[in-house]
Amino acid sequence: MANDLRFRIFGLRLEESSEWGIGEKMKRATEQPATSNEQQMTNDHGPKEACGVFGVFGHDDAAKLTYFGLYALQHRGQESAGIVTSTGRSIHEHKGMGLVPEVFNEPILDGLHGHMAVGHVRYSTTGSSIPKNAQPFVVSYAGKTLAIAHNGNLTNARQVRRDLERKGSIFQTTMDSEIIVHLLARNLERGIDEAIVRAVSQIQGAYSCVLMTEDILIAFRDPNGFRPLCLGMLNGGYIVASETCALDLIDAQYLRDIEPGEILIIGKGGLNSIRPFSQREHTFCIFELIYFARPDSNIFGQNVYAVRKRLGKKLAEEYPLEADFAMPFPDSGNYAAIGFCQASGVPMEMGVIRNHYVGRTFIEPAQSMRDFGVKVKLNPVREILNQKRVVIVEDSIIRGTTSNMRIKTLRGAGAKEIHMVVSCPPHRYPCYYGIDFSTKGELIACKHTVEEVKNFIGLDSLCYLSLPGMLEATGLKENGFCLACFDGKYPIQPEEDFSKLCLEY
Ligand code: SF4
Repeated sequence: MANDLRFRIFGLRLEESSEWGIGEKMKRATEQPATSNEQQMTNDHGPKEACGVFGVFGHDDAAKLTYFGLYALQHRGQESAGIVTSTGRSIHEHKGMGLVPEVFNEPILDGLHGHMAVGHVRYSTTGSSIPKNAQPFVVSYAGKTLAIAHNGNLTNARQVRRDLERKGSIFQTTMDSEIIVHLLARNLERGIDEAIVRAVSQIQGAYSCVLMTEDILIAFRDPNGFRPLCLGMLNGGYIVASETCALDLIDAQYLRDIEPGEILIIGKGGLNSIRPFSQREHTFCIFELIYFARPDSNIFGQNVYAVRKRLGKKLAEEYPLEADFAMPFPDSGNYAAIGFCQASGVPMEMGVIRNHYVGRTFIEPAQSMRDFGVKVKLNPVREILNQKRVVIVEDSIIRGTTSNMRIKTLRGAGAKEIHMVVSCPPHRYPCYYGIDFSTKGELIACKHTVEEVKNFIGLDSLCYLSLPGMLEATGLKENGFCLACFDGKYPIQPEEDFSKLCLEY
């Protein structure tokens, strides 16, 4: 029997075990609603988010709060996690490759002293996935220590880094985030307020960041506002997080979003908001609402669950299909499927059952076991599917390969007709602002017509939501979004040959 098995490692090496007491908060953390992105943790090939950031100022349990905050933001990055704390005099840090509970345990958190903290979960979109690129990135300069956690991609990173290197800066990582710290360090003698303003005036692209010195926390967001960032309060202390779901988990009160272009300095004297940029149109990433953010978060002033339901409703209006039932591939498309079924009257069924306990490592049979990789995570229910006309409600198609495998398993389970409706238009252009499809080659709809994509996946029909339909469903004004991966109109042009590894020279 042993010969029939081979050990197949998916994802990343684990740095540490997580055998520690799971307290009440931990229990609550694991009970948080599933997200469309959780499938990524089971090696799905959907698009990956850049990162999640979290910060605490003025709370004695800063490290543990950050741990829980990162736990809630795990869907935004699964490659590495890190927490840096400050007592006001000394800095403590721990980072590692892997998921939050794999990187941290109770003794480690107990050693992270201080009333301030900054935390990060990473999926690499600039720089390789290696330990030295784990964040928060920490550097000591002229007697000050700086720690930064960054979500997004800088679009002029190569040019700014080359300028800094010519002036003598020595970089430790291949991440664009380190550039911000170098720019800041060069101007520290002018005071932190002016240093941060000078730093952000030299960078372009997407950045939602939390930066910490020994005694202050700074949250800042690019003027376009690509990625979300919010401010909360807990027991008189301040919390900064990528999404509101992280505030919910620790019972923090949501105060407001960090505004696009805002630099918010949080210190003993309270909040100091600086807005150094002239007013410009915001270009929120619409794909956060469609796919990335957790459905229980509110971002860009909208509840993500409600938006996804409205996307499904729009799909039903645009494509009145006759079918026996509609279904999502859980958890992708769950909320759009609810909206689609409620609006169309087509009943909803769960034609596949998700195994919630598939980790990132499992033993796969060497001898071919048909569709094993798909079925171990999503097993089709033959009794539901057999001889049925099925509508799959999906949130996106990026490479198409996962959809292709899944449709094969549905056919194998006897589905008679399989139609797919997608709650956004085709992805035809790469993203340079912090999502992991930065080249056209990664996008099936870039080089293929809808008919060709339909044939590749093995569908009877394929319908994408229209751009106006998608915008209407968001409930926000039309020109407030980045739509570049759909229409090719980039709010900020990236440098030539921009790629994930462009700083690895
Ligand atoms: S290109 Fe697409 S994924 Fe990237 S920021 Fe714009 S809308 Fe979001």
